[in-house]
Amino acid sequence: MQDPIRAGLAAGWKHIDASTLGKGQTVEADVVIVGSGAGGGVTADILSDAGLRVILVEEGPLRSSTDFRMRESDAYPELYQDSAARKTTDKAINILQGRCVGGSTTVNWTSSFRTPPEVFAFWQRHFGLRQLSVESMSSWFAVMEHKLWVRPWETPPNQNNKVLAAGAEKLGIPIGAIKRNVKGCWNLGYCGMGCPTNAKQSMLLTTIPAALNRGATLYTRLRAERLRFSGGRISALDCQALRPDGIHPSGKRVQLRARHFVVAAGAIGSPALLLRSGVPDPHRLLGTRTFLHPVVISSALMPERVDAYAGAPQTLYSDFFLQQAAIDGPLGFKLETPPLHPVLYATTLQGFGAAHVALMREFTRVNVILALLRDGFHPDSQGGQVRLGGDGLPLLDYPLGEVIWEAARRALLAMAEIQFAAGARAVTPVHETAPLYSSWAQAKKGIAELPLKPLLCRIVSAHVMGGCGMADTPQRGVVDHRGRHFWLGNLSVHDGSLFPTSLGANPQLSIYGLVARNAALLAAELSGRPPPLIP
Ligand SMILES: Cc1cc2nc3c(=O)[nH]c(=O)nc-3n(C[C@H](O)[C@H](O)[C@H](O)COP(=O)(O)OP(=O)(O)OC[C@H]3O[C@@H](n4cnc5c(N)ncnc54)[C@H](O)[C@@H]3O)c2cc1C
Repeated sequence: MQDPIRAGLAAGWKHIDASTLGKGQTVEADVVIVGSGAGGGVTADILSDAGLRVILVEEGPLRSSTDFRMRESDAYPELYQDSAARKTTDKAINILQGRCVGGSTTVNWTSSFRTPPEVFAFWQRHFGLRQLSVESMSSWFAVMEHKLWVRPWETPPNQNNKVLAAGAEKLGIPIGAIKRNVKGCWNLGYCGMGCPTNAKQSMLLTTIPAALNRGATLYTRLRAERLRFSGGRISALDCQALRPDGIHPSGKRVQLRARHFVVAAGAIGSPALLLRSGVPDPHRLLGTRTFLHPVVISSALMPERVDAYAGAPQTLYSDFFLQQAAIDGPLGFKLETPPLHPVLYATTLQGFGAAHVALMREFTRVNVILALLRDGFHPDSQGGQVRLGGDGLPLLDYPLGEVIWEAARRALLAMAEIQFAAGARAVTPVHETAPLYSSWAQAKKGIAELPLKPLLCRIVSAHVMGGCGMADTPQRGVVDHRGRHFWLGNLSVHDGSLFPTSLGANPQLSIYGLVARNAALLAAELSGRPPPLIP
C-alpha cells in the first residue's frame, strides 16, 4: 500500500519535527496557522493556493498509513489529546480530540452533515450572524463536499447500525443514511485509529499535502505558547519545541513572525492560546460557551453477534428526537451508533472486577447507541468554560445542570426502547449503578428512577465547539462572522471554536464550509487578488 505522506516527505516537503531542533530559531512567513485539523488544514490549502507563504504549527506528531496498525494501544497515545482520556475538570466527561497532523480529522468517524437550517436561524436571531444562512453557505459546503469526497455510503450498514434501524422501524421512528468523506473505503471500522488504507479524506491526506506541495512549511511537535501583540496587531508567535515524547518542552524555542495569524487549535486549544496571550477581552467572553454535545450511551446484549468494531461506524442516524420541541426548548438529541473497540468500550463501561469482566465477555454481542445532546440553545444550557491551569495548559469546566440530565433520561429511555424493539436480550445505560434490564417494562421503570449525576452516568464527547464564538458585536462574541478578532487586526480564528452554540450535527463539515469561506476572504485580502473559490 502506498503511503502518500512518506512519498511527499521523500519528494522534499518542508517538514520540521521540532523535537530534533538543535537550537532555537526565528522564521518569517506571510501567515502562521496554529493547528492542523479541520480548520487549520482547510486554511493552509486555500492560503497557499493564493500564493501566500504559509507556516503550519502542530503540537502532535506527523503519522501516516504506515503507522496506522488498527491497534488502540498505538493510536490513543500517539494520535489523541491526553491519550484519549482528556477530561473536564471534575472528570465527569471524557473528551476525545485528535493531537497529530490532521487533528481530529485523522481519527474521526467520517460522518458528514451540513449545518442544520434551524441552527443558522438561531445564530441570526441571537448573535446577529445574518451573513450566514443555508443559502449563503451552500456553495461552500458543496465545494468542500466535492474536495473531500463526501458521498452517500452505498455499502450495507454493519450489524451495530442495523440494530438502530430495526428498532426504529418497529417503533415508527424515522432514520436516515449518513454521508461519509471516504474514497475507496475497505469498510474496516478502524477510522478512530487513523485510516490504514488512506480512504478517509481527512486533512492529513487532502488539504495538508496540497499546501505542502505548494511549499508550505509544517512544524510538528511544536506547541504554540503565546502571541505577542502591540498597537492592535500581533507581531509574533512564541512556540516551545517538545521532546520526542511529544509532551514535555525540550527547552528550544521557535519564534514565528507573519503578516497574519490564524488560530485553529481546536475548541479547547484556541481559547487557551488566546487566554495565555492575554489578548483583549473586555467582555470576558473568551473561553465561555464551550459546547460538547454531551453524549449518553445505551449498551444492549443482542442474541446474535454484532461485532461492532467491524464495518463503517455511524452510517445511520435519527433526528426524530431533535424535532420534538423548539430548538431552545428541552434539549433534543441525535441518535447514532459509534464503533466499539475493546479499550474504548472497557474504559467507558461501568463497573469493575468480576461484574466488568462479565460485561466485557459479551463484547462481540454488544450493540451501542449514543445520543448527542444539543447543548447551547436552551437558556439554561450555556455550556462550559475553558480556563488555564497553573502550568498554562487548558482546563474545561462543564457544569452538568438539570436541563442536561432531563434530556439524558429521555435519551436513555428512547435508546433502550429501540434496542428492545430490535430484539435485545438485555439493555444497560452506561451508568455506574444501572443494572442489566431484561425487558423494556423493567428498563422503563428503572431508568425513570435512576439517579443521574456527574460521575454516575457516563458522559463522553468527541465534538468540542465554541469558546471563541462569532457574533455581530464585541459585546456578544470574540470574533465576527469571518472569524476576525474584534480587537486585533491581523488575528483570525478558523476552527470549531467559532460556533456560538453546538450544532445538533457532527461538526466536521460545518467547520470545513465556514473555514473555506473565511479563508477565501482572507486570501483575497492578503494576496490582493480575488479568491478562486468564491462561488
Ligand atoms: C474520535 C472522534 C470521532 C469523530 N467523529 C466525527 C464524525 O464522524 N463526524 C464529524 O463531523 N466530526 C467528528 N469528530 C469531530 C471532528 O473531527 C472535529 O469537530 C473537528 O476535527 C474539529 O476541527 P478543529 O479544527 O476545530 O480541531 P482539530 O481537528 O481537533 O485540530 C486542532 C489541532 O490543533 C492542535 N493544537 C492544539 N493546541 C495546539 C498548540 N498550542 N500548538 C500547536 N498545535 C495545537 C491539536 O494537536 C490538533 O491537531 C470526531 C472527533 C473524534 C476525536
